[in-house]
Amino acid sequence: MKLKIQTLALVFIMIATLSACSKKTSIEVNINKDGESKVDIGSEEKKENNKADGEKNLDSQKGKDSKSESNKKENIENKLNAKGSLAGKVICIDPGHGISSSKKQEPMAPDSSIMKPGYVSGAEGKTQTEEELNLEVALKLRDSLSDLGATVYMTRETHETELSNVGRAKFANEKNADMVVRLHADGIDDKSVYGISMLVPSSENLKNSQIVSESKIAGQEVLSQVVKYTQGKGRGVVERSDMTGFNWSEVPVILLEMGFLTNDEEDARLSKDTYQDSIVKGVASGLENYFQSK
Ligand SMILES: [Zn+2]
Repeated sequence: MKLKIQTLALVFIMIATLSACSKKTSIEVNINKDGESKVDIGSEEKKENNKADGEKNLDSQKGKDSKSESNKKENIENKLNAKGSLAGKVICIDPGHGISSSKKQEPMAPDSSIMKPGYVSGAEGKTQTEEELNLEVALKLRDSLSDLGATVYMTRETHETELSNVGRAKFANEKNADMVVRLHADGIDDKSVYGISMLVPSSENLKNSQIVSESKIAGQEVLSQVVKYTQGKGRGVVERSDMTGFNWSEVPVILLEMGFLTNDEEDARLSKDTYQDSIVKGVASGLENYFQSK
């Protein structure tokens, strides 16, 4: 009987030790995963993660202080509820162009005297206009990124729009977006030209060097994934200083030129659901890689 009690006590100690070990392991795993997600962790582990984040959190907090309180609260709530590879990320999708009768002119950059039209009609193909294609792909991308846990805001979900180029940039700034994805398609006189490009801001008119560098890193990653998924022809990442939508941005921003509508083959390809889906997969995968590498 005495032996049995000793055996039971020994078993109890072993179980207690094992459970302590496994608890420690689970905390370590959560800390390692910190870069990807802060969801589903206990308060003790959150304290650890906050320590590990260090200056990064302080910096981002400083930036957030200037944003509207309601968006901040909404974003925090979404972050706590969301699950998935893009959980906690706020992504703004801007389907380029749209239908508007406005002839409004606006400064190309906050301190620029150069005025540009706030609304421009886009390229045209035989099977679609750029405005239609941009919106079609944007709606698919919205659903895909939402499924991955991101909080997604759209500058337009209809063909008609009231938002100018400056308005779109300010919209994303107010949402405190972690990334803005602008969707466009190209047009050019030479009908033989085709392929997919990525435009990113240059530092000439966008003075925040961190936004410029983050945009470029994300742009490279997203373009390479879009080319991979579509099996299309990549035309590279191009820095642009003349785009109003870039120059007014206070958050990282990329612009995907999905292809040339003036090239008949590419125009036909872009109108197909399966091809549009591969673009969406590429953008989503590129964003996943970008955020995971941060
Ligand atoms: Zn365009």
